[in-house]
Amino acid sequence: MHEASFYKKLENQQLNCHLCPHYCKIKDGKRGICRVRKNVNGELDAETYGVVSALNFDPIEKKPLYHYYPGSTILSVGSYGCNLSCKFCQNFEISQSCVPDYVESRKYKPQTVVDNATAKKNNLGLAYTYNEPIVWFEYMYDMARQAKDKGLKNVIVTNGFITEEPLHQLLTVMDAFAVDLKAFHEDFYKKQTGSSLKPVLETLKTLAKENKHIEITNLIIPTLNDDAQEFEELVKWIKNEVGENTVLHISRYFPVYKLNIRSTPVDTLLKLDEIARQHLNYVFPGNMHTSKGESNTYCPDCGHELIERSGYYTNLTGINENKQCSNCKSPVKGIVLK
Ligand code: SF4
Repeated sequence: MHEASFYKKLENQQLNCHLCPHYCKIKDGKRGICRVRKNVNGELDAETYGVVSALNFDPIEKKPLYHYYPGSTILSVGSYGCNLSCKFCQNFEISQSCVPDYVESRKYKPQTVVDNATAKKNNLGLAYTYNEPIVWFEYMYDMARQAKDKGLKNVIVTNGFITEEPLHQLLTVMDAFAVDLKAFHEDFYKKQTGSSLKPVLETLKTLAKENKHIEITNLIIPTLNDDAQEFEELVKWIKNEVGENTVLHISRYFPVYKLNIRSTPVDTLLKLDEIARQHLNYVFPGNMHTSKGESNTYCPDCGHELIERSGYYTNLTGINENKQCSNCKSPVKGIVLK
């Protein structure tokens, strides 16, 4: 047992977890909505502490993070569980399950994972990803603290559904955030994800205030969140609250898990891409083949190509050694470079 943080003891051995805005009230022997935080005799057990579902070196572009040390490799670690229940989850095998029986063979101390990260030459750091890292907060935090001490960077891929206190603790160790903003209306969040939008927007506002590197992914699902007007509201909100240099990844949906809607037409994605580019400097269609350089980064001031991308191949074609656009010499904006 690894005692969890962020909970209160109630009467009759019940608990109240306040790690995320579900504020689960958990009876003895039961788990919270995320399936991986369990009341064991009146104490909250972070059941997935040390439990790893996947550990891989990935291109950082795969998170996706396009403007945070582009071209880097990062050690990605995942576990089990999620505080959302998205009907279109691509990783439902690990996110929508309890900890499987065989986990003993996949247990790693934080130090072991960090040692793996430091052992590889030119590895940027650690990415907490694959399933929702918020629900294994304690394990992630312990790894991130040790990684930071070793000079590594920490990156989280998250739904942003977290309460204020743990978020502020996370800010002390985390360098970059890839956040899913799944739609811009509460009804979608309620029906399709079993959560709510407002706390996610609050998280994004806090991250922006703290000057963290933020990239946002919006998965476009036909008929559910592909309305052009609503999408434009989402984009304007990002511009006003997070900043015009925030990267927005517009991702193509394919039928998976419980959702059987047809995949997103490429034309829809390109239309929304055009709308987003009217408000934000860096917009990238994802999960689709691009042939006209849509996945490259261009200088917002002069339009010169700064970064060329093809699949996960990345080349800083138009940035000089002073971190300027090699054409107009304006400093690159919103891109973190070595
Ligand atoms: S982290 Fe899990 S147990 Fe805690 S409030 Fe959220 S869903 Fe409930």
